[in-house]
Amino acid sequence: MIFLDAAATTPVRREVIEAMFPYLTGDFGNPSSHHELGERAALAIGRARSDIAELLDCRPGEVVFTSGGTEADNLAVKGIALARRAARASRNRVLISALEHPAVQESAEYLARMHGFQLETIPVDRSGLIDGDIFSSMLDDDVALASVMYANNEIGTVQPIAELAALAAQHGVPLHSDAVQASGWLALKLPALGVHALSISGHKFGAPKGVGALILRSRTLAEPVIHGGGQQSGLRSGTENVAFAVALAKALQLAEQEREAAFERVSRLRDDFIDSVLSRVPQAVLTGARGAQRLPSIASFCFPGTHGESVLLELERQSIICSSGSACAAGSSEPSAVLLAIGLSAEVAQSAVRFSLPSAVSAEELAQAADAVVAAVRNLGRLGR
Ligand code: PLP
Repeated sequence: MIFLDAAATTPVRREVIEAMFPYLTGDFGNPSSHHELGERAALAIGRARSDIAELLDCRPGEVVFTSGGTEADNLAVKGIALARRAARASRNRVLISALEHPAVQESAEYLARMHGFQLETIPVDRSGLIDGDIFSSMLDDDVALASVMYANNEIGTVQPIAELAALAAQHGVPLHSDAVQASGWLALKLPALGVHALSISGHKFGAPKGVGALILRSRTLAEPVIHGGGQQSGLRSGTENVAFAVALAKALQLAEQEREAAFERVSRLRDDFIDSVLSRVPQAVLTGARGAQRLPSIASFCFPGTHGESVLLELERQSIICSSGSACAAGSSEPSAVLLAIGLSAEVAQSAVRFSLPSAVSAEELAQAADAVVAAVRNLGRLGR
């Protein structure tokens, strides 16, 4: 099998399993317990928090462990918007980019539907990029929160987050960024990015599914979304998942160590793969930006005249695993909102195929995948599918 669906998920790394194993077995304590077993668990959580803080250049108290990227996005969007409006009633607008993952999009829609916020969409150009002047023109002191993802999961476009955060700051608006797809590929140092909140998810870089974090900068107001026993400074109640917190820290540490080399190597392989497909499949259209404004791991195309799901099945018959869009939208007959937002027609959007490359992908695997794509699209074209 050639696995080119790493944006959907990645396997858990052996070192990560080894790091978390003690906290699933002998050291199984509850970090809130006042005995030695509990204290050992609390120490482990504390170490995981400090390790993540060091890697992301933030304070340990700014790391909130969550059940994944979805919960981190919910906490950021709902938590910050509700807290800032509670502090000043005129902050009633929420701005999100046109490319957001449903975790952000649906959270923002919930705020509009249930709490009367005014939801506005920040437009993007044909590559999926936000224009700083347009973003700036939408900012004012009545904005409770802006949310712009760092790198898109379907088309790989990377936003100029530091520039957008600086513009937001000029108007006193906090910027949240969903960095779930950026982690492992792009630098995530909080001071350089300048964002007030950043979401990450472990299963995209070698930790298990079901763990993530929201980095919430101190002095950023936020209401909890999950209420209970007041763990994690009241921001996220519930007994901490010690083993998974340890796993998240270990996976992030490994990903950071390997990040720059992986960026260089995979960017080159991605470009060769894109060029090979574009030069050999006449109707292929690349979606998203090129070069540095594209995640190294994402090669996304439309093949007008085919259906993305049919291309996917043809490729799977040849043991090449990819996706017709994001994993969350898989199986949905609706065209991708991201592809519509960059100006594609519904018909072209239905022909989308996304290849997302794991960091260990080889040139041989991609050469084989390119040959298979050429054959699959040619076959489907002949059959009128
Ligand atoms: N945000 C983005 C950009 C994603 O790609 C994903 C998952 O695919 C999520 C959020 C959700 O993360 P999780 O699967 O950890 O809930």
